[in-house]
Amino acid sequence: MEFSLTTEQREVQALARVFADGEIAPHAAAWDRDHSFPRAVFTKLGELGLMGVCVPEELGGAGADFLSYILVLEELSRADAGVGVTVAVHTSAVTLPIIAFGTPAQRERFVPELAAGRVLGAFALTESGSGSDAGSLRTAATPDGDGWTIAGAKQWITNGSHAGTFLVFARTDAAVDGPRGVSAFVVDGSDIEVTREEEKLGLNSSSTADLRIADVFVGRDTLLHEAGHRFAVAMATLDGGRIGIAAQAVGIAQAAYDVALRYAKEREQFGSRIADFQAIQFKLADMATEIEAARLLTYRAAWLKQQGLPHTLAGAQAKLFASAVARRQTGEAIQVLGGYGYTKEFPVERYYRDAKITEIYEGTSEIQRIVIARHILAEQTDRTPASAPPASG
Ligand SMILES: Cc1cc2nc3c(=O)[nH]c(=O)nc-3n(C[C@H](O)[C@H](O)[C@H](O)COP(=O)(O)OP(=O)(O)OC[C@H]3O[C@@H](n4cnc5c(N)ncnc54)[C@H](O)[C@@H]3O)c2cc1C
Repeated sequence: MEFSLTTEQREVQALARVFADGEIAPHAAAWDRDHSFPRAVFTKLGELGLMGVCVPEELGGAGADFLSYILVLEELSRADAGVGVTVAVHTSAVTLPIIAFGTPAQRERFVPELAAGRVLGAFALTESGSGSDAGSLRTAATPDGDGWTIAGAKQWITNGSHAGTFLVFARTDAAVDGPRGVSAFVVDGSDIEVTREEEKLGLNSSSTADLRIADVFVGRDTLLHEAGHRFAVAMATLDGGRIGIAAQAVGIAQAAYDVALRYAKEREQFGSRIADFQAIQFKLADMATEIEAARLLTYRAAWLKQQGLPHTLAGAQAKLFASAVARRQTGEAIQVLGGYGYTKEFPVERYYRDAKITEIYEGTSEIQRIVIARHILAEQTDRTPASAPPASG
């Protein structure tokens, strides 16, 4: 068992950390207040190789491993969770599925532009009537000559107002209810109409948009993978994506802890630093411990994925735990700062608002528990977890 990062992983982490501290964190409060989407940041991240950090070099990426990408998400989210989710959806919900499931022509056409950050990606699965039960979606793709005509509406799509490449999920077989009749298409942004930008509790530097696809004809070559492939693309995408959201949660929680620790050492009441009160020490101790546990679960899930080992259970456990840690410990950070924590003078109230979404998107905490329960109930009698690597590995 090896707990240290490789030289390359540490270099990627340092690159993301320096960029996050210098170019993101100083502006995060303003982006939150103004609800502005920092498009130029993603161009710069592209130039640094961080919009396709785990994309193979021959497709225009940096060629690093999946854990390096997770480290990048953690660092970006520590500075601004909105930037974190933009990169997470762009990479693990769009670029990586095109690499994994796309045809060679799709890979060559879409991936280099995405990996360079010249084009942003969006993952359009959710609809007004289908969230957790995504397989019941109603957007329809009807065979039409040498392609398909797609008609429907999508809701709450991250990057929706800024993306040029959309992964759109639509029902290709009207006769089949549920996930089995659903397929994924790679659709150009020019074919998609943005109908509304959502107002949110937090994550205000990210775009969350409603979309309409109004009887748009797309060629046969837009179909990702084969038609009606039992929803495999969406599920495999979310398996990896959840590890990214766990990393986002770790980053947000770490940011809140860093502020709380610094503040506790400076603030004085009753003639001593509040860090000298055991009540505050215990909060800091719990924060440090829970964040480290969340980080270890997240890195382990990323490691399993990059080894090509089953990671559905590990990813669900990491997301379930890390998102709860982020929600709980950003609240505790406010408590350490007292009234100042509730004001905009310090960033912890933003971290608190941003943390909540990690318990909702890419599968709610209830859905993660369902995934985990399914796995542990199907466990072998020797009590080897379903996702554990084989003893020989
Ligand atoms: C900021 C933001 C960004 C998003 N980005 C994207 C995106 O880029 N692409 C995309 O496709 N979607 C996106 N979403 C949608 C997101 O993935 C869904 O909101 C999420 O999957 C939950 O669906 P829902 O909101 O419809 O809740 P529902 O499914 O209606 O769930 C409501 C409640 O019921 C619970 N519940 C549902 N089913 C069960 C069950 N079987 N057992 C127990 N409890 C259950 C849920 O856990 C939840 O507590 C985004 C949402 C937000 C808010």
